[in-house]
Amino acid sequence: MDNVTIPNVLNVKEAISIVWFKRDLRLYDHEPLFLAQQSQLPVLLLYCFEPSVMQYDDSDVRHWRFVYESIVDLNQRLSSFGTQIQVCHQEVIDVIDLLKNHYDIKHIYSHQETGNKVTYDRDLAVQKFCLNHNIIWKESLTNGVVRKLKSRKNWELRWKETMSKPIIKADLANFNFLILHPTVKEVIVGPEVPSELTIRNENFQQGGETIAWKYLRNFLQDRYPTYSKHISKPELSRRSCSRLSPYLTYGNISMHAVYHSTMERYPTATNKRVLSNFISRLHWHCHFIQKFEDECTMEFVPVNKAYDAMIKPRYEAHIIAWQSGQTGVPLIDACMRCLVATGYINFRMRAMVVSFFVFNLWQDWRDLHFLAKQFLDYEPGIHYSQTHMQSGITGVNTIRIYNPIKNSIDHDENGVFIRKWVPELAQIPLSFIHEPWKLSAMEQQLYGFELGRDYPAPIVDVEASRQKAADIVWSFRKSDDVKQEGKRILAKHTNAKGKFTVHKKQ
Ligand SMILES: Cc1cc2nc3c(=O)[nH]c(=O)nc-3n(C[C@H](O)[C@H](O)[C@H](O)COP(=O)(O)OP(=O)(O)OC[C@H]3O[C@@H](n4cnc5c(N)ncnc54)[C@H](O)[C@@H]3O)c2cc1C
Repeated sequence: MDNVTIPNVLNVKEAISIVWFKRDLRLYDHEPLFLAQQSQLPVLLLYCFEPSVMQYDDSDVRHWRFVYESIVDLNQRLSSFGTQIQVCHQEVIDVIDLLKNHYDIKHIYSHQETGNKVTYDRDLAVQKFCLNHNIIWKESLTNGVVRKLKSRKNWELRWKETMSKPIIKADLANFNFLILHPTVKEVIVGPEVPSELTIRNENFQQGGETIAWKYLRNFLQDRYPTYSKHISKPELSRRSCSRLSPYLTYGNISMHAVYHSTMERYPTATNKRVLSNFISRLHWHCHFIQKFEDECTMEFVPVNKAYDAMIKPRYEAHIIAWQSGQTGVPLIDACMRCLVATGYINFRMRAMVVSFFVFNLWQDWRDLHFLAKQFLDYEPGIHYSQTHMQSGITGVNTIRIYNPIKNSIDHDENGVFIRKWVPELAQIPLSFIHEPWKLSAMEQQLYGFELGRDYPAPIVDVEASRQKAADIVWSFRKSDDVKQEGKRILAKHTNAKGKFTVHKKQ
């Protein structure tokens, strides 16, 4: 960094604290804010759109638009306290380096992040920088995920204890916010963020703490009763599930606050079993991220290293057909098109499109990066743990090869979801909607539809490809190397009994 061209604009360096916002874009239940207030120093609220993170393989404009919307929401609320989050568009380390030319940075407060390789390396660099410049960097726990965990013994108990702690409230009305010198501001701010981040896209959930709370309240008041009934349905889950996932990913709401609100609702809930199911999922959220926190090589290599020997030839045409919803299997195509357009499909459909990709199309799990880009709620810890599990490369979980036709008949029984996302099939009678290739030539003529012209024939034989994949993955599963690694995985990622119990009924 060239310090010569940036004169110190302040005569005496003022001592300050910084709250570095990362994936914790909220004001409520925010420990770094609370601690910064205790520091008694003027506090700068900082967010950096970092080019290195934005350009990484797993990143998409939809994620950064959500972040941008979250900050707009925070700034609207912060304006009543006479401050704003300072948004910069450059690497955080460069911003801090510039700031320290003008201010005596005493503390940086942030939340711990279980991220991908690029954010992990960035955090190591920030840590080194802070050490070299006598800055105390205090990182608060995120959700129930524990850093440098020695064993999973008692993890669940700890999780419940963490979730049961009181909500943390900073006193924003009496906060000593730093008023940044305009010249310093000019230096640190960097170029404008790409305009596509600033334009609202109605197809996606909108970012922001205010909206996150609307989703939670509305779920706990009205939507939750049909949660368990509709959780596997591609269309109905969109309303009956909480849809909190992007708000948890970007920390618009804390897991802690969601847990508290749910437990408050519990005594008056008419269907307690449903709320218990929901709480189990909150627990899973942290459980999966903990796995990735403990073994972040999962970003690049199979968690069960023995599966490195399972080589799958890359077949570009199949990958493109899957990505663009042109496989000829209606429910798969509907899911992929819906995901690309809206950033969301429910759990079962996610598992199914992964299964189709890695088993039926016999493609490598590493190419599932495409999904990371599409999920608005992309959370590296859940994404990698789930994709490894659903790809059958853990050697410890049951191998599930989803049948997309059975799932279609069971969960989109009236073909509503398929007709919506695959309009080429809109005129086909329900009896053929799940398997349009079964239409005879005469029936096709009758419905003004031609397989191969209006909609592709299936790019693989669903049953034959399933059988072939099952033979290979099960033979792998029986190998000594896979079993050996399996033992290591169970010891590292599960409790003493070799398994994780989910939330018990209240
Ligand atoms: C291949 C694959 C990839 C996935 N990637 C992500 C991801 O990147 N980010 C993400 O948040 N979820 C991911 N999931 C888990 C799950 O599909 C989503 O959390 C859920 O569909 C989000 O919808 P919801 O908020 O309405 O969930 P709800 O059912 O209302 O659950 C509430 C919250 O619990 C958590 N949760 C629910 N199900 C799971 C689960 N199976 N594992 C872990 N946490 C869960 C989420 O935080 C969710 O917001 C993935 C699942 C699969 C199979």
